[in-house]
Amino acid sequence: MIAGGDFMMNKLYINGHWVEGTGDTWDVVCPVTEEVIQRLVLGSAADMDDAIEAASSAFMKWSRTSPAHRAEYLQRIALGVQENKGLLIDLQMRNSGKPFAEAEIDVDAVIDTFSYYAELIAKEPQSHEESINVIGFRGEVTREPIGVAGLISPWNFPMVTTSWKLAPALAAGCTVVVKPSEYTPLAEMALASIIDKAGLPPGVVNFVPGLGHIVGSKLVEDSRVSKVSFTGSGAVGKSIMKQAAETVKNVSLELGGKSPILVFADADIDEAIELVVAGIFYNAGQICSATSRLLVDENIAADFIERLSDRVTVISVGAPSEDAQMGPLVSKTHFQRVVDSVERGLALPGAVARIGGGAVAGSSRGFFFAPTVIEILDSTHELWQEEIFGPVLCYMTFASEAEAIALANDSKYGLAATVVTGCANRARRVSRNLEAGFVTINAPQIVSPRLSWGGYKESSLGRELGRFGLSSFQEVKSILSPI
Ligand code: NAD
Repeated sequence: MIAGGDFMMNKLYINGHWVEGTGDTWDVVCPVTEEVIQRLVLGSAADMDDAIEAASSAFMKWSRTSPAHRAEYLQRIALGVQENKGLLIDLQMRNSGKPFAEAEIDVDAVIDTFSYYAELIAKEPQSHEESINVIGFRGEVTREPIGVAGLISPWNFPMVTTSWKLAPALAAGCTVVVKPSEYTPLAEMALASIIDKAGLPPGVVNFVPGLGHIVGSKLVEDSRVSKVSFTGSGAVGKSIMKQAAETVKNVSLELGGKSPILVFADADIDEAIELVVAGIFYNAGQICSATSRLLVDENIAADFIERLSDRVTVISVGAPSEDAQMGPLVSKTHFQRVVDSVERGLALPGAVARIGGGAVAGSSRGFFFAPTVIEILDSTHELWQEEIFGPVLCYMTFASEAEAIALANDSKYGLAATVVTGCANRARRVSRNLEAGFVTINAPQIVSPRLSWGGYKESSLGRELGRFGLSSFQEVKSILSPI
């Protein structure tokens, strides 16, 4: 069993107390060793009901606290995460199999997000009143916290995705119920312990790990919850939207992607190769914004793919303790899903595996999928169109800038894109024409809480991070009175 220091790993956090779950028993499995590292009793619908009640009862008082007061708590949480950084990195590595460097980036991102929102509301109170003269009357526009927020997180960036929701929700004055993924609850529950130690009033933050269709569903349908912020698969996102319609709930969705990386003939080829590799193999490709579709200029394609293949072949895959550059997939279920998608796709005409295509050869334990490169000859191919969510890069060639843009935009998704070119004018022109919410030019995807996060089309509804993240937890109210 895991050594979690002072952290409470196997209980629910409701109304400021650690309580036993009354739902199913669940084994948390290490994706490297396939061993059970924690047995949990998950939350039930009744536990979720208690958590929603606690958040509802705490709302009135918390929503009336000053932004400066809330900023202090956010800073305390950031500090608590900083103080426990080593332990949190360890939990990320054990529960997700992430290499040390990636686990460290996750923890730093959590610290940065809480600090950013603390600073944002401390210097600019979120009620943000505007006064407007309306034909002799005084109009005021104010922002108020939306109410109880339900935050539902996936397993690929535990703690990080949660902090992108939790920090702005608390900053806005909402009370929250967090529903972490059942696959990766350990670092999330450690975060709950840190929040507990930060001394927030009971009920302001509640954590209920549990099964999506039981506790997640309860959170979405409950009329006491005013807002649901969800990150996860498109299928669940769409069902949440339908379910939330019953109570006309405000919903934010961060869903899947099939993002393109465009490499033009004038690019610095060494730099382009590193950007392609980082874009798809970071976190073993389990990134909603992974640049899983490579579009390469046909004039350089043969040489580029050869050099890229040489580079991909030397990526070391393994346990975090082995200084691996890429870890395993998160679970047996997800591993099998990736294997099935790739096998099914390669059996269809129009796709040829250049590297990899299945489990890492010779690995007898752990959910290790080999870094894979597949040539695609038909842009309607399912491997080109559907999200795989693993270390699988598909590529096509293009003959002109216009064709590159058309192929890049020919997707139901529109989360991210990367443009690699030596021409500044082309970079600007192409990035303007891409249907994506986050575009990088000759740069890796560095997501900062100071920017925005979210995409076009079926990738997202709304935006997270920055001021957008804060306003997604606020209502807008106009008040008109005599001058
Ligand atoms: P998932 O949709 O299966 O689960 C996400 C969360 O929703 C989990 O906590 C799960 O328990 C919960 N859930 C499941 N069914 C539910 C229901 N009926 N009602 C309420 N909650 C429910 O997704 P996943 O497998 O955990 O994550 C992978 C997916 O998430 C990928 O498709 C990926 O693209 C997407 N993702 C998107 C982003 C983004 O920012 N756009 C970030 C990370 C992951």
